[in-house]
Amino acid sequence: MQHATDVGTDPDDALARSETRFRRAFSHAPFGMVVESADGVLLEVNDAFAAMLGRHPQSLIGCRDDELVVDDDPAQVLAWTINGEPDVVVTDRRYRHADGHVVPARCTSRMERDTQGRIDGRLTHVADLTRLRAAEDALATSEARFRRAFDESPIGMGLSSGDGRLLWVNDSFCVLLDRTWAEVVGRRTEEFIHPDDVRVASRTTRRLISGETPRAECEMRYVRPDGSQVWARLSMSTLSDPDDDEPSLVLAQVLDITAAREAEARLAHQASHDALTGLPNRMLLLDRLGQALFRRDRLGHEVVVLFLDLDDFKIVNDGLGHAAGDEFLVEAARRLRQCVRPTDTVARLGGDEFVMVCEIERVHQVAALCDRVASALGTPFDLDGRSLSMSASIGVVVGDDIHSPAELLRDADVAMYRSKADGRGRSTLFTEGLRAEAVERLEQEADLRVALREGQLAVHYQPVVSCTDGSVHGVEALVRWHHPERGLLLPGDFLPAAERSGMVVELGAFVLTTACRQLGAWQAEGRHLTVSINVSPRQLLDGNVVDQVLNQCAAAGADPEGLILELTENALIETLSSAGERLRPLRRAGVAVALDDFGTGYSSLQYLRDLPVDLVKIDRTFVRGLGSEDDGALAEAIVRLGAALDLTTVAEGIEDPAQLERLRAMGCGYVQGYLIGRPAPVEELDLTPRW
Ligand code: C2E
Ligand code: CA
Ligand code: CA
Repeated sequence: MQHATDVGTDPDDALARSETRFRRAFSHAPFGMVVESADGVLLEVNDAFAAMLGRHPQSLIGCRDDELVVDDDPAQVLAWTINGEPDVVVTDRRYRHADGHVVPARCTSRMERDTQGRIDGRLTHVADLTRLRAAEDALATSEARFRRAFDESPIGMGLSSGDGRLLWVNDSFCVLLDRTWAEVVGRRTEEFIHPDDVRVASRTTRRLISGETPRAECEMRYVRPDGSQVWARLSMSTLSDPDDDEPSLVLAQVLDITAAREAEARLAHQASHDALTGLPNRMLLLDRLGQALFRRDRLGHEVVVLFLDLDDFKIVNDGLGHAAGDEFLVEAARRLRQCVRPTDTVARLGGDEFVMVCEIERVHQVAALCDRVASALGTPFDLDGRSLSMSASIGVVVGDDIHSPAELLRDADVAMYRSKADGRGRSTLFTEGLRAEAVERLEQEADLRVALREGQLAVHYQPVVSCTDGSVHGVEALVRWHHPERGLLLPGDFLPAAERSGMVVELGAFVLTTACRQLGAWQAEGRHLTVSINVSPRQLLDGNVVDQVLNQCAAAGADPEGLILELTENALIETLSSAGERLRPLRRAGVAVALDDFGTGYSSLQYLRDLPVDLVKIDRTFVRGLGSEDDGALAEAIVRLGAALDLTTVAEGIEDPAQLERLRAMGCGYVQGYLIGRPAPVEELDLTPRW
C-alpha cells in the first residue's frame, strides 16, 4: 500500500506504530475494505471483503474490480467532486460470490490523490447488503400480501380518515353497499348509514379518534341505493404512526349480519307469538295488557279484557281433521282482529282460547264489542266446501288499578267459564260473586280429594229392564257422594268441577273398581247381569281406561263380557280420532260400548255409523215428551235407527206407564227409569222381574 502522508517531525518508530495500527484496523475491520489502483486493480483487500466473496484474500489481489461483479452496470449513487473529479463515490454493486450467488453491496470509495491532486488510487468501504435486501424484499412481499388481504378479503374493509371520509375500501364492502368503488371512495361514511344509526356510528368513531379506546365495535344498518337495509357489525381500530403527528386513520372490518339479525327477530317473534295464527301469545298479551293499564291510569279510558273460548271447536277439529281445524283457527283469528282497533290486542292462548285487550271510552261499549265478536264468528266459515258457523263463550273483565294483568286474565277466564256453563255463546261480565264461585269450585275440588281418600263416595245401581219380559237385564252404576255436611250429593253437584280439575279420572277409577267387584260378585253367584259404567272424555283421554278396565276385571275375577261402558256422543266425538283405536282391545275382550244421552249431542248419522258402539241410550228428554206428537216421532225414529244399524236401544227416564207402553210398542229393547227402579245401594236393589 502506498500511503503518502506527511508525518512531519514524528520519530520513525511512532510512524511505524501508527502504520501497524492502521494495518490491523484494515485487516480486522468487520466490513469489507479494498485498496485499488487508479485504474481499478485491487492492491489490497481485507478479510471481511474476501469472506464476503467466499475467496481467499490473496486470490483477489491483482484482480480488476469489474471482474468481481456480475454483468450489470453498477449504478453510481452519489459523488462528491473536487475540481470536477469525484472525491467520494457511492455505488451499489452486485458481487459474485465464489459459489455463484450474488452479493449486493454498497461501496463507498474515497479517492487517493498525489501531491498534485491527481487520483492515484482509491480506498473503498464495502458494506454487505444481503440481509438488508432480504429484509426489504420480505417487506415488499408482505406489503403486497397485506394489500391483497385487504382488497380480496371476504369481509368488507374500509379505511377512512378521522373525519369519516372513506380513503380506501375493498370489493366486499362495495358489494355490501351495492355500490361501485368509485361511488364509495372519497364519500363520507354517514352518507351510507341508516339515519337512525348515524349517531351510534359517529360516537364510536369519536371514541377511537380521541384515543379513548384503541378498538371499538358497533352494529348498525347501511342503506343500499334501492332503499333496502343491511345490518352490519363493524370492528374498528385506529391506524396511527407513533412517530407521526398525522391524524389517525380508522380501519373498519364490516361484517354483513343481516341474516343473523333477521333470524334473531324471527326468534323473538316466535317466542312472543302463536305460530299458527301469528297472534301474540300469553307472554306478549300480559305485557300489552300491562301497557294498556298504564295508559289507562294516565289517559282515563277503560281497558277491557275479553276471554273467548270457541264452543264445540273439538267437533270441527276431530270431525273434519286437524288441517281443517287449523284453517278454521286462522280464519277465526283474522275475523277477531277485525273486530277491534289496530292498537288493541288479540292473542291466542292455545287451543281454541283467544283473549282480546281493548281500550274503550265507556264500559258499556263492551256489549257492542261482544256482539261484533258473536256475529264475526257466526258468519259461516267455508271449510272444505262445508259451511260452518261458530259461537264463543266470552268472559269479560274491566281493568282497574288494583289487579295485575295476570289476575285480570284469570278473572276473565272465570267469567268465561260461567258463560260456558250457562249454555255457551254468551258473554258474562266478571263479578266478585263469580270469583267466589271459582273459589268454591277450588274448595270443592279439595273436598272431593278428601272424599275419595276417606271413602265418602259410593256407587248406586239403577236397574235396566228388558221390554219384552220385564226381567232385570243389568244395572247402571251411578256415583254418589255422602258429604259429611251437605248430605247425599248427586253427580250434577260435583262432576263438573271434577271434570274441570281432572279429578274425574280418579273418581272414575273408584267407580270402575267398585262396579267390577260387584260384577264379579254377581257372576260368582251365578247371576248374569250387565253393569254399565259411565266414562267421561277426560278419563278416555288421560286415564289409561283400557288397561284399567281389564286389570280391574281380572282383579275382581269378573268376566268383561258383562261390562258396558257408557260414553256420551260428545265424549266420543272429542276423542273421535283415537276412540276407535282405544276401545278396540276392550271390545275384543267382550266389553260393550253404549252411546249415552243419544239425541242431545251432535247427532250425526255418519258418527253413529263410524263409532265403535253396540247400544244407544235414548235421552230422557225424548221420553219425557212421549205424549206429544213430535217427540214421539223423534223417539220412534231413534228406535228405528238403532234397529237399522243393528244396535240395542235403551230408553232412559221412564216415569209413567204410558211412556213404557209407547216404547214397547215402538220396539225399544230396554228401559230404565224411576218407574222401574230408582238408583239404589246394592243392598236395596230389587232384581226381580217387573212383569
Ligand atoms: P246418565 O248417565 O244419563 O245417568 C242417568 C241419570 O238419570 C242418573 O242421574 C239417574 O239417577 C237419572 N235418572 C234415572 N231414571 C230417571 C227418571 O226416571 N227420572 C229422572 N228425572 N232421572 C232419572 P244421576 O245419577 O244424577 O247422574 C247424572 C249424570 O252423571 C249421569 O247421567 C252420568 O252422565 C253422570 N255420572 C253418574 N255417575 C257417573 C260416574 O261414575 N262417572 C261419570 N263419568 N259420570 C257419571
Ligand atoms: Ca249413563
Ligand atoms: Ca243418559
